[in-house]
Amino acid sequence: MAENKRDYYEVLGVEKSASADEIKKAYRKAAMKYHPDRNPGDKEAEAKFKEVGEAYEVLSDEGKRSRYDQFGFAGVDPNYGAGAGGYGGGFGGGFGGFGDFGDIFSEFFGGGSTRGGARENAPRRGENIMTSLELTFEEAAFGCEKEVATPRIENCSVCNGSGSADGVIETCSQCRGTGQVRTVQNFMGMQMQSTAACPQCSGRGKIIKNPCTTCKGKGKVRRTNRVKVKIPAGVDAGQSVRVRSEGSVGVNGGPNGDLLVEVYIKRHPIFQREDRDVLCEVPISFTQAALGAKIQVPTLDGKVEYEIPEGTQTGREFILREKGIPEVNNPRRRGNHRFTVVVETPTRLTKEQKDLLRQLDETLVQAETPKIKKFFENLKDFFD
Ligand SMILES: [Zn+2]
Ligand SMILES: [Zn+2]
Repeated sequence: MAENKRDYYEVLGVEKSASADEIKKAYRKAAMKYHPDRNPGDKEAEAKFKEVGEAYEVLSDEGKRSRYDQFGFAGVDPNYGAGAGGYGGGFGGGFGGFGDFGDIFSEFFGGGSTRGGARENAPRRGENIMTSLELTFEEAAFGCEKEVATPRIENCSVCNGSGSADGVIETCSQCRGTGQVRTVQNFMGMQMQSTAACPQCSGRGKIIKNPCTTCKGKGKVRRTNRVKVKIPAGVDAGQSVRVRSEGSVGVNGGPNGDLLVEVYIKRHPIFQREDRDVLCEVPISFTQAALGAKIQVPTLDGKVEYEIPEGTQTGREFILREKGIPEVNNPRRRGNHRFTVVVETPTRLTKEQKDLLRQLDETLVQAETPKIKKFFENLKDFFD
């Protein structure tokens, strides 16, 4: 029930002052940990996964977060605490936009609704479902199609969502189908009029005498939904792909929610990513660096031959234009491939090799190594 909810900051394990970035990081970590794919059949993990998703949905939205900070759960969930007092029913009305954030799971499956009633039979949009998907570096770069499986609320197929086993649905006689009744309360000597959920039909406006046994009269069931998701080329970690209408089914004829698939990218053994640029390191030998060489550079398109000039220093970056990651909405435009050469100093040299290097060194001294020359000049100035 709503009253037992844990504080959203506590759920994500962040401070109240946490930045948007910290919240996002904390959410990702928790979502990965409790993801249903990683904890098959684990009800507790599933509940946690949902809990962090809900906390993130609120704390990641500036408006919702500030309402939450100000009013607590009541600021972001019109059902919270409703029914406990006389004003609950009307409280959420002013904020609007709650349609995609109702605790539909607990409403349908937690038993005993706390909903205030005034909105019970109004059409509402189904809940958005959030899930995550781990992609390889290449899948994210070039796009792919993946299947995700997420639990969502669907219409019961046995009763076609009506909730009635025999198809007989009566309009509630007490509220005449409106789902609400007017009550007059005495508040500090004043007559206060308010609307409340109809007690006979719990605000649904209709009465089912013979409820469907599959959904226990709710008309809705929870089912795993398998959806093919097209991941566009160029998607980056932390971005979400929205699949319209693949969230939970709408309530009272409202539209379905959406499915939001957040993308994670697996670490690649060679490549790293910086926006649309691909970065990598290429080790070269001491001799290649000194003399220049044709080297093989790994890129997303395969190996590319590149000629590094003589006298190349370790740590120098070279750029292969348009060999990077495609732009999400314009895949013909691509970032660059940037590679850094790292000179590997030879180890375990034989005596002959060392002698050769010493001979070389004597011929080199200073003229060909301007940085070393400059360094010793500076030292001299410094100590004089
Ligand atoms: Zn049913
Ligand atoms: Zn009624």
